[in-house]
Amino acid sequence: MSKEFVDVLVIGAGPSGCVSSSYLKKNNVNVKVVEKTKFPRLVVGESLIPRVMDHFDEAGLFPALDKMGFEKKLGARFLRGDEVCIFDFSNKFGDGWDWTWQVPRADFDNTLAQEVINKGIDLEFETEVIDIQFNGTDSVTTVRSKDGETKEIHAKFVIDSSGYGRVLPKLLNLEKPSKLSPHSAIFSHVQDVNREEGEEGTLISFDIIETEVWLWVIPFSNGNTSVGIVGPTDYIEKLSENGDTTEALKKAISLSDYYVKRFGSVDFLFEPKHLKDYSCSVKSLFGDGFALTGNASEFLDPVFSSGMAFATESGMLAAKLALRQLNGETINWQTEYSDYILYGVDVFTTYVKEWYTGNLQELFFHQPENPDVKKKICAVLAGYVWNKENPFVKKHDTVIKNLANLIKLEKQEQN
Ligand code: FAD
Repeated sequence: MSKEFVDVLVIGAGPSGCVSSSYLKKNNVNVKVVEKTKFPRLVVGESLIPRVMDHFDEAGLFPALDKMGFEKKLGARFLRGDEVCIFDFSNKFGDGWDWTWQVPRADFDNTLAQEVINKGIDLEFETEVIDIQFNGTDSVTTVRSKDGETKEIHAKFVIDSSGYGRVLPKLLNLEKPSKLSPHSAIFSHVQDVNREEGEEGTLISFDIIETEVWLWVIPFSNGNTSVGIVGPTDYIEKLSENGDTTEALKKAISLSDYYVKRFGSVDFLFEPKHLKDYSCSVKSLFGDGFALTGNASEFLDPVFSSGMAFATESGMLAAKLALRQLNGETINWQTEYSDYILYGVDVFTTYVKEWYTGNLQELFFHQPENPDVKKKICAVLAGYVWNKENPFVKKHDTVIKNLANLIKLEKQEQN
C-alpha cells in the first residue's frame, strides 16, 4: 500500500474543512484534504449567518466567494399568520458583520473547494476515509479512491470535518444522541417563476405553520429558491406517509397561506430530500491527535441557521490550535476548544428549545416591539453567541423564559 506523510489531514471539503485547511496553508503547514464525493454535490444548509464571514475572511476565502454574486442576506423574516417579525442584522447589538449570503450550497461549496485548490492545497476528491489508527498523537488513515485502491496517510494531526459522514465519531465510538427532541425536514429547489420583484422576492423567510412546524423559503441569485418543511419527526413522517416526498412537500406548501400562490404549482428541480432526525451530538469534540468540527461534531436544528456558523467557527479554531500544537505548544483542548465551542452550542440550544416551546415566538411577535430586546436577539441570530456583554447570550437560559412569561401574564390581564 502506498504511503503519504503530512502534518495535518482534513477529512471532508465542506465549509468547515475548507476553512481549516486554508488557515493552515496560509500558515505554511503541510495540509491535505480528502473528500469522499465529487464536487459540485448537493448539500443542505443554504441560509448563512454573519458570523461565518469572519471565518471566510480570516481564512482568505472571502474574495473568491464575493465574486460569485450570491444573494445578499441582510436579515431574516419570520411569519405567523398575519404577524411579521423582521430582523435586520445592521440593527444588532455589538460588533460584527451585518450581512452574509443565502446560497445554493453545491455552487458555494464548489467555489470554496476550488479556492482551496488554487491556494496549492492537495485536495483529493472521490477519496473516502475508511479507517484510522492513532499511535499517541500520530495517526495512520486508510483511504480508498473511487477505483477501489487504498493508501495510507500518516498525519501528526487529523481534523475531522466529514459532516454527516461523521467519520471519527463512528470509528471511535463517539456518537451521542442529541439533547433536542427529534425533528426532520423535507426540502427541494424550485425555479422561482412567480417570484415578486424587489425585496419580497429575495427575502429569506420562515413561515410558522404550527408552533413546531415551519416552512423555509430561501431565494438564490440564480433565480431558484429552496423550499423546505421542518417539524417533529412524526409530523413529517405523516406528511410523507407512502414515502412520496414530492407529495409531502406539495402538501406542506399548501399549508402556507403566504406562499401557496408562489410555490403551489411549480415543479421541484429534484426529488425532495427527506432528512430524518437530523440533530446529532458527540461524547467528546477532541482526542489525542484529532479534533471534530462542524457537523462531524454537533448539529442542532436549522431554525436559526447556526450549522454553518459552528462549522466555520470550529474549523477555524481547530486549525489555530493544531498549528500551535505543531509548533510545540501544549494545548488544553478541553478549555481552549471544547468548552469554548460548547458555550456557543449551549446558547443556540436554548434558542432552539425556546423556539419549539413557543416562548421565543412570543417575543418575536410581541407588539409593540421592544427595540432593545430585538437588537440583542438579533446579535444571537447573527451568530455572535460568544459575546457575553450581550445579556441575551450571558443569561440565555433564563431571559427568554422570563420575558415570555411576562408577555403571557400581560395577555391574560388584557383578556
Ligand atoms: P458538510 O458540508 O456536510 O461537509 C462534509 C464533507 O465531508 C462532505 O462533502 C462529505 O462528502 C465529506 N465526507 C463524508 N464522509 C467522508 C469520508 N468518509 N471521507 C472523506 N470525506 C467524507 N446550516 C446553516 O448554516 N443554514 C441552514 O439554513 C441550514 N439548514 C439545514 C437544514 C437541515 C434540514 C439540516 C439537516 C441542516 C441544515 N444546516 C444548515 C446545517 C448544515 O447543513 C451543516 O451545518 C453544514 O453543512 C456543516 O458543514 P460541514 O463542513 O461540517 O459538513
